[in-house]
Amino acid sequence: MDQTLLQIMKFIQSRPGTCKTGICNNFGLSEYRLNRAFRNLSREFGDITFVSSHEHGVYCVELDPCRCSGLDWSDGASKGFFQCQNPPKFSDGRCYEHSHVQSSEMAAFGRKLSYCLGPAEPNARNILSLGMTLIEEFREILTAISPLTKLEFESRSSLMDMFNSAYATLKLRERLKDQRTEGFHWRSEFESRHRASSVNPFEYSLRKLFSLLGIASDSSKEETLRAWKKLARIYHPDTSGDGGDEEKMKELNMAKDRIFRIRRWD
Ligand SMILES: [Zn+2]
Repeated sequence: MDQTLLQIMKFIQSRPGTCKTGICNNFGLSEYRLNRAFRNLSREFGDITFVSSHEHGVYCVELDPCRCSGLDWSDGASKGFFQCQNPPKFSDGRCYEHSHVQSSEMAAFGRKLSYCLGPAEPNARNILSLGMTLIEEFREILTAISPLTKLEFESRSSLMDMFNSAYATLKLRERLKDQRTEGFHWRSEFESRHRASSVNPFEYSLRKLFSLLGIASDSSKEETLRAWKKLARIYHPDTSGDGGDEEKMKELNMAKDRIFRIRRWD
C-alpha cells in the first residue's frame, strides 16, 4: 500500500476540518488525485469514509457497519461529522432519515414526469407547460404515494407544492379567460389577432395533442406518424375523395409538429 495514502489519512485524522486545498498543497496533489486517494483508502479500509464540505473541510469517519451509514455535522463540544446512531433500515444501509432508496411508486412517477417534461428538472414554469389534464393526473398520483424515506417525503411535498401552484395558476387563467370572453367583446381586432398568434405551444397538453391524432400519449414516433398519415389520407384535400377538410388538416399537422417538437423526435 502506497505510503502517501497512509500519510494523507494520518494528516486528516490529526487535523480534522482542513480544507481540500490545504491537503492538496501539503502533499502536492491535484484535487482529482486527492479524491482518488480517498476512494482507494475507503476501499482498503472498508470501515472508514471521507466526508468533505466547503464549509467544514475534510473529515475521516470510522463507520460502524451495524449502524446507518448516514453522516451528520455536529457543532457540539467535539465538532465534526458523526455517523448516525440509528439502525440501518433500507437496502442502502441507511435509516429513514438518511436513505436514498426510492419506492417503486416514486420511481414510476419520476419516469412518467421526465417522459413528459424531457430532460429538464421539474420547476414551476415547465410544469405549467404540461397543461391542465396532465397536471391533474400528476397531482392524483402524487397524493396516492406514501413516501418510504425522509428524502422521498421531502421531494414529494416540494413536487406537490409545484403541482398545486401550477393547478391554481391554470385555474386562474381559465377564470380570467371566461371573464374576458363574457364582458369584453369590444376587444379590438388587432388585439385578438395578436393573442391568437402568441399562443404558447405548450399550453396544449401533450395528451390533447395525441388525442387529436386518436392515439395514446405514450405512443412511439412510428405510431404517431402512422396515425397522422392515416388521418391525412382522409382529410387532405388532395387525397380525400370529397375535397377533404382543410381546417382539420391544419389541426392534424399542428398536433404532429408539436408532438415531434416536444418529444424532440425531429
Ligand atoms: Zn441515519
